[in-house]
Amino acid sequence: MKAVYPGSFDPITKGHLDIIKRCHKIFDEVIVVVLNNPSKTPMFSVEERVELIKECTKDLENVITDSYTGLLVDYVKEKNISVIIKGLRAVTDFEYEFQMALANKSMRNDVETFFLMTNNKYSFLSSSLIKDIARFDGNISEFVTENVEKSIFKKLKGE
Ligand code: ADP
Repeated sequence: MKAVYPGSFDPITKGHLDIIKRCHKIFDEVIVVVLNNPSKTPMFSVEERVELIKECTKDLENVITDSYTGLLVDYVKEKNISVIIKGLRAVTDFEYEFQMALANKSMRNDVETFFLMTNNKYSFLSSSLIKDIARFDGNISEFVTENVEKSIFKKLKGE
């Protein structure tokens, strides 16, 4: 069975990777899809985000990375996917994810959303928090892989 793990991944964190590593053991194929949200101003371009995810997941052979502009339900239909994976960090994630899952269900009744509870090691992690820490030159090596850490500091230096 194919599953999709959607998000902005700006950039991918160890919290995201934990979810990917757990669900790749359950599903035949996991597609990590970077959704292009035109209303957000990201640090990394969609292509850069895809590249970083590919580097982080290169050893997981049933994990594929892709990008999409549009509604997730349309992507899911195009690729013939039956499961959407979401990670839940805190109660604050719940309300939003609950709304999204119901909206997706009303648009595509044959698609199920599966929720994975965060690993408590990473429950506080978000891409934006990591970028904020890095802006003040804090240590982010616990939260992201080495390639991502380097890319964030490069961006911040304007390289
Ligand atoms: P953010 O920018 O808030 O990190 P994304 O849109 O990139 O969020 O997240 C994609 C998915 O990953 C969402 O389902 C989100 O709830 C989940 N996620 C993000 N960070 C974590 C984490 N630390 N632990 C578990 N799930 C997470």
